[in-house]
Amino acid sequence: MSESSVWLQDMTWEEAGQIIEQSGKTILIPVGSTEQHGYHLPLGTDTMVAAAVAEDAAKKARVPVAPPLWFGWSPHHMVLPGTITVRPELLAELCFDIISSLSRHGFENFVLINGHRIVNITWLQIAAERAKRELGVHPVIFDPAYMSKSLTASMGWGSVGHAEEIETSQMMHCHPDLVKIDRAVDHPHRAVNLYSVDPSFEGDTLCYVPSSPDEMKALAESSGGTAGEPTKASEKGGKIYHNHLVTRLVEVIRDLQAKGN
Ligand SMILES: [Zn+2]
Repeated sequence: MSESSVWLQDMTWEEAGQIIEQSGKTILIPVGSTEQHGYHLPLGTDTMVAAAVAEDAAKKARVPVAPPLWFGWSPHHMVLPGTITVRPELLAELCFDIISSLSRHGFENFVLINGHRIVNITWLQIAAERAKRELGVHPVIFDPAYMSKSLTASMGWGSVGHAEEIETSQMMHCHPDLVKIDRAVDHPHRAVNLYSVDPSFEGDTLCYVPSSPDEMKALAESSGGTAGEPTKASEKGGKIYHNHLVTRLVEVIRDLQAKGN
């Protein structure tokens, strides 16, 4: 592997060929979106955080990272400019084709790093199940919300929303130059008993359905598209959260590699 980069797109084909065995046939695939993230975060936030977790874990675990998917299923964010939405069936197909291509070269363990939260999970599951069944490979989905359940409440943060204190903090740590924190507008979560977009919600969680254009218009008018309290964000918290995810991801990689031996 190139000493300077863990990214597949930075390698020559010879380096890519060598890293297959050196990595225990393991590769990471960051999956995000390009969608509005309030007044204060860039459109690419979901992809940037998934790529950052993948890159830092890959350096520690000595595995490569595939080019990130910058597009997601984001129909609910189309009320604000810059958002790109792709039909989820295409995303499932694309993800399967990426795994299929890499498996033909010898990769067997795939970690899909989810940067687009609960919206991504269903179609990642569809792609991963098909890859398991048809290709005989070992895909897993690494979801930050599940992987940080033990941490986020202790940070004084609320539950997962959108462009809230969790991803704002992580962006302050990973891409401080892209965060316009003075533009952040809070939109605190309503107290709910039955439903949250946070998959680790302790109450009863209904299956997720993206918001309607009218619901999102209301959110855009009240907070510029933010759901949560980004003014609670901090670089220090972002560093703790990010490093927690990197540590957990390295554990997941080691576990997958050990199963393959
Ligand atoms: Zn996001």
